[in-house]
Amino acid sequence: MTSPHDHGKSKHAVLIGGGHAHALVLKSWGMNPVADTQLTVINPGKTAPYSGMLPGFVAGHYTRDALDIDLEQLARFAGARLVVGHATGIDLARKSIRISGQPDVGYDVTSIDIGITSDMPVLPGFAAHAIPAKPLGSFAAKWHAFRDSDGYAHIAVIGGGVAGAELIMAMSHALQTRGRMGSATLIDSAEALSAIPPKAAKIVRQKMTDLGVTVIENTGISEVCADDILLSDGQSIRSDFTTGAAGARPYEWVQDTGLALTGGFIDVDEFLRTSDKAVFATGDCAHLVASPRPKAGVYAVRQAPVLLQNLRAALTDDALHPYKAQKDYLKLISLGGKSAMGEKFGLPFAGSLIWKWKNHIDQSFMAQFRDLPPASSTD
Ligand SMILES: Cc1cc2nc3c(=O)[nH]c(=O)nc-3n(C[C@H](O)[C@H](O)[C@H](O)COP(=O)(O)OP(=O)(O)OC[C@H]3O[C@@H](n4cnc5c(N)ncnc54)[C@H](O)[C@@H]3O)c2cc1C
Repeated sequence: MTSPHDHGKSKHAVLIGGGHAHALVLKSWGMNPVADTQLTVINPGKTAPYSGMLPGFVAGHYTRDALDIDLEQLARFAGARLVVGHATGIDLARKSIRISGQPDVGYDVTSIDIGITSDMPVLPGFAAHAIPAKPLGSFAAKWHAFRDSDGYAHIAVIGGGVAGAELIMAMSHALQTRGRMGSATLIDSAEALSAIPPKAAKIVRQKMTDLGVTVIENTGISEVCADDILLSDGQSIRSDFTTGAAGARPYEWVQDTGLALTGGFIDVDEFLRTSDKAVFATGDCAHLVASPRPKAGVYAVRQAPVLLQNLRAALTDDALHPYKAQKDYLKLISLGGKSAMGEKFGLPFAGSLIWKWKNHIDQSFMAQFRDLPPASSTD
């Protein structure tokens, strides 16, 4: 194990995962580092994709690098060490993190921001023939290769929530633009789009119809095969590229950490602190015990400043700050082409201006990671 203090500083803070909250923490740390503290971030790759721009990338509006937060650059800015690898466990008693194929990393305080997966391990054929939408990075790479190949394409998305609908619209738009559209199907075992108000769902359904998407609801899947999907009612749906966007599953290794969990998600209190005082958790992987919220990037983003304050407080024995989760948030949903729908408090509004507005918000979010001010130093 690398000692928490190998780097010559007296404290070591470790960020597990380069999710949205941790990316923001890295940036703020660079502007105002905690004195005498080494920061390390562990992430499977040197970049982390931004979910807000994923549908735009899938549709072909953005290049791949527009989607990626450059963690290497951010870590350099923060004076942090980037460990490229998967965390596979935490030894709470020894205060160390296991990383596949690498030495353990010790910590004084750590935070987990690893997101979720949309893998469906119990669905026959899914592992061999389908691609989970999350983690986004590997999904984006596979779609990129598929989108830019030749011939008529048949696509399907399993899971008719907002993310599934956004993806099938973006994929359909990309194939139509390339003259490759064969068929597109959205499949849900219950009613699609049930999490958004009926007026908003109506707009999305109409857009899916315009894009030639067939929506199959209240129907289970018995098997995913290489070229088709077998439904429980006996139908067979053609699909050469099947994506899973049905719900959020927590990563399994978290179950063995000994941290208190709810449904596999890491319980956190109002300070974003887990059942272990030296471990915080944020974003989709965390469960806000006092005020549960849906899994959405806006919460990870809003948690970032509080997380940073509390990491700082935990390292300096100061008082922790509470995080107050907002009740509702503005949902901006891409509708395939350069058109989007906004919805808040049940009121939907759609069109190309909304896409321009969403694009502006997303580009501004990403710009803050590229246009970095001069870093501060406490040394
Ligand atoms: C198609 C789609 C569109 C979406 N659009 C929106 C939207 O418009 N607005 C919105 O608010 N939300 C949206 N969401 C939801 C959004 O993606 C998530 O809520 C958001 O990404 C959560 O951020 P996070 O910080 O929890 O984790 P993530 O952004 O998922 O980041 C987690 C990071 O941790 C890394 N990681 C994973 N496992 C490990 C490990 N073992 N060790 C180390 N690192 C690890 C991952 O590689 C990744 O870099 C969308 C989701 C999808 C699927």
